[in-house]
Amino acid sequence: MTKTDPAPRNKYLKGATGDWEVVIGMEVHAQVTSQAKLFSGAATAFGAEPNEHVSLVDAAMPGMLPVINEECIRQAIRTGLGLKAQINLRSVFDRKNYFYPDLPQGYQISQYKSPIVGEGVVEIDTPDGAVRVGIERVHLEQDAGKSLHGQQSGVSLVDLNRSGVALMEIVSKPDLRSSEDAKAYVSKLRTILRYLGTCDGDMEKGNLRADVNVSVRRPGEPFGTRCEIKNVNSIRFIGQAVEVEARRQIEIIEDGGTIDQETRLFDPDRSETRSMRSKEEAHDYRYFPDPDLLPVEVSQAEVDELARHLPELPDEKTARFVRDYGLTVYDAGQLVAERETADFFEAVVKGGERPRDAKMTANWIINDLFGRLNKEGTPLASSPVSAGQLGAILDLMSAGTISGKIAKELFDLVWTEGGDPHRLVEERGLKQVTDTGAIGKLVDEIVAKNPDKVAQAKEKPAVVGWFVGQVMKSSGGKANPQAVNDLLKAKLGL
Ligand code: ADP
Ligand code: MG
Repeated sequence: MTKTDPAPRNKYLKGATGDWEVVIGMEVHAQVTSQAKLFSGAATAFGAEPNEHVSLVDAAMPGMLPVINEECIRQAIRTGLGLKAQINLRSVFDRKNYFYPDLPQGYQISQYKSPIVGEGVVEIDTPDGAVRVGIERVHLEQDAGKSLHGQQSGVSLVDLNRSGVALMEIVSKPDLRSSEDAKAYVSKLRTILRYLGTCDGDMEKGNLRADVNVSVRRPGEPFGTRCEIKNVNSIRFIGQAVEVEARRQIEIIEDGGTIDQETRLFDPDRSETRSMRSKEEAHDYRYFPDPDLLPVEVSQAEVDELARHLPELPDEKTARFVRDYGLTVYDAGQLVAERETADFFEAVVKGGERPRDAKMTANWIINDLFGRLNKEGTPLASSPVSAGQLGAILDLMSAGTISGKIAKELFDLVWTEGGDPHRLVEERGLKQVTDTGAIGKLVDEIVAKNPDKVAQAKEKPAVVGWFVGQVMKSSGGKANPQAVNDLLKAKLGL
């Protein structure tokens, strides 16, 4: 393990008897974006009536033969390329044998010894800087169906819509060291898959779920025995599951006990993990190559062709935003987390007659636009303020036609009423007043009304700020702040 065991990052948990290091490795199941299932033509669409999307293959009728869906192979290879991983030109489907009512075949078709994708890497951002998390492998496998347990009827039913849907199992090395690492890893992986278009990352629908392996050790000691927490389906729950499981293990060991390797479930309502079953070993499943399927063979030329058509990936985009637009890594990361947001940002920056100020654009998107979208629960795709409209607001502000304060009001106005920002500024009389005569009048009024403050300002120049505020207010936010400042200083003789 030493090869894959990066230097500890000093994020120890305090126990009663000293420090503990948490070690985490993840097995993420990602539903492959594809119209049809892995070995049948049945649809993968979500939300159908139970057993609506079930072919004879999915129901394991006698004599039916699986036929590989080549789109799923391509998607797995694209995923491997996105994870900078080795692509195996020959891979093998195996049968993993076990019984469960939602598994009519009596085995799951999966890949065991020869997966389609080998070692790769995912880079995550942590407070200590970028950390490279090793990928052990990615393999293709079938999803199982779903048992529906009737609470009142006492009858259990089986829905096979998911049966045979293609999953990618993405296995990380045990390189994660905290709940924060674990959350950052799954978020990053999800972002990469969404950029690639190989999994929609919808955790609420169960299209991305994680088995979280957790162990604890004294700093510098070998890895401890791990427990696997099955099927955690939100990023927040992944963090919580790691925390409570690590605490549980630390308490047991500090009380003189030992950890049994087992499979556990996370219960978010009670914030605890519970034992499900003792850990089974690979040989329990009697894996063997599926005699109904030939090995999957792809050529290097096919892989190269897929690589050529890969989109720009999040890390590359972040680096480009930092390099070309002078953004901070943090701001670039915020914009790049979703491809749509990054595109929106670039549409604003490049959408004007001249390139717009990238930092200002980033600030407006991250603070004002995201703030409003979050508050209203609106996705960016249906934002009432388009990239063109935001760009126009920024142009009006940069040209000095409107003040920064009015720009915020204009943003609200466009959000609620829509319309062309230039026209709105004309119609509503929002133009910034730079006419020194008009501003001078306001200055005179405020100064005349506040002789005590005038005296203070001579002692303490900071009081000028108060005057600026008053004049701005009486202008309805439309006075040019620089002009106000200049006129006030002249008037007060500062
Ligand atoms: P198995 O073959 O039993 O499934 P693997 O070696 O494939 O075990 O590991 C499964 C997952 O468990 C991987 O994500 C790996 O990183 C993680 N893992 C392995 N050992 C540990 C450990 N000691 N602590 C935490 N996670 C671990
Ligand atoms: Mg495993």
